[in-house]
Amino acid sequence: MPQPVVALKIDVDTYVGTRDGVPVLLDLLARHAARGTFYFCLGPDHTGRALRRIFTHKGFLQKALRSGAPGAYGLKTMLYGVLLPGPVIYQKCGEIMRQTEQQGHEAGIHAWDHTNWHDFLLKSDLGFVKSELGQAAKGFKQVFDRLTTTTAAPGWTVSPDSLALQDQMGLSYCSDSRGSHPFYPVMNGQRFSTLQIPTTLPTADELLGRDGLTPDDLPEYYLQQLKPGLNVLTIHTELEGGVIRSSFSRLLELLQQNTIPCISLAEARAQILDAPACQLSMGMIAGRSLPVALQGDEVAA
Ligand SMILES: [Zn+2]
Repeated sequence: MPQPVVALKIDVDTYVGTRDGVPVLLDLLARHAARGTFYFCLGPDHTGRALRRIFTHKGFLQKALRSGAPGAYGLKTMLYGVLLPGPVIYQKCGEIMRQTEQQGHEAGIHAWDHTNWHDFLLKSDLGFVKSELGQAAKGFKQVFDRLTTTTAAPGWTVSPDSLALQDQMGLSYCSDSRGSHPFYPVMNGQRFSTLQIPTTLPTADELLGRDGLTPDDLPEYYLQQLKPGLNVLTIHTELEGGVIRSSFSRLLELLQQNTIPCISLAEARAQILDAPACQLSMGMIAGRSLPVALQGDEVAA
């Protein structure tokens, strides 16, 4: 039986999460000899516009309050794109972004405008995907002076158009989905050539409040959930690098004590020699108010 390994996917959703949360996580990861992949939003922070979901999605307000969104994001962030102009993150936080790579982590693209992608991708055409990923790729190049090799869609929201564009970008792999093991996606009958490394574990914001779990319970909970081989955990700078940082610090400590490596997705990718083709479709999971990309059955070659 192979030993469990945790690949850490770090979603950076906001300006404040980049400015304040990334340095906190860099410090925690360094202290526990852990590595991860930081997925950055490069463009304007329009988090406040997510509030419109209160009116369009049942369960959004309940989830926002249960996960402590106003506390996690801060009042100012909740107003970006509504009453305040959204700061363009790559123009303000380039130095912090570069530090992730300088300290041995991997960096990739989460989005240009996180809120836009999450809210409009499924109603949009290829032009929208090209505009959002194109602007993100330009911002990324400005900061890192190279092209990205990986992307991870906001809210695990994908479409055949977004997968097709990822293929055109010649990426090494993407992490847009939820599932159990790496695979090549087949969506609406179309096969795609970019490897998906799905998130295998539930996120903190999905777990908190469910079954009475508190931040203090999360480290032990995660340890018990680990399977032999590759596990992928998604964290958010706004939570694990903010209000629940001590819980995340304890998790890193437990992994270290149990000699379970915590690695970047690039390191995990390097160990994947081949993978099956699997169905990919948008569907609901516990703890989220919007559908996510779900790995389905294997498809014969
Ligand atoms: Zn995100």
